[in-house]
Amino acid sequence: MMEVYIFGLTWQAIVEWFLAQPIYAQVFVLIGVFAVLVLAVILVYYILKGVAYLVYYVLKGVYYLLKGIGLLFYKTFEGLYYLISGKPKPQLNPAPEQQVPPQVKQEEELIVPILKSEQIVRPEVVYCSECGNRFTDSMIQTISERGVAYCIHCGNKKTQDHQMSIESQ
Ligand SMILES: [Zn+2]
Repeated sequence: MMEVYIFGLTWQAIVEWFLAQPIYAQVFVLIGVFAVLVLAVILVYYILKGVAYLVYYVLKGVYYLLKGIGLLFYKTFEGLYYLISGKPKPQLNPAPEQQVPPQVKQEEELIVPILKSEQIVRPEVVYCSECGNRFTDSMIQTISERGVAYCIHCGNKKTQDHQMSIESQ
């Protein structure tokens, strides 16, 4: 039979010792061996993981180092090129365009409702100073839209400021 030595003892001796123990001690030993194996596996896993991380960060560091050296060389040669050729270096960041202040829009929004309310209030009853007839709604609407309208009764011109012109149509 092949002789296997573990911690100076043969496998045969260990098995004999194990079988000589009471049943609860055998179970205890099996649990202990299992726990040691699990811990060993976990330990090996974390060691490998740590080594992998170490290799990863070393490679990453080397990459950034080479990148930085490359960028340094590029900037140096770029600076030398502009220095020798005498060309002005182009501006990478042009001045940002001035934005339209948002106040303008707010003012517009404030003006519009005032005009609308005026248009609604304005069509009061208006009488023609020439013929004395009441202006129709369509005439008042035309005045407010175009600034000028003609009396449908006598044909006199009526402007937005309610001034009757002398000229007749
Ligand atoms: Zn009239």
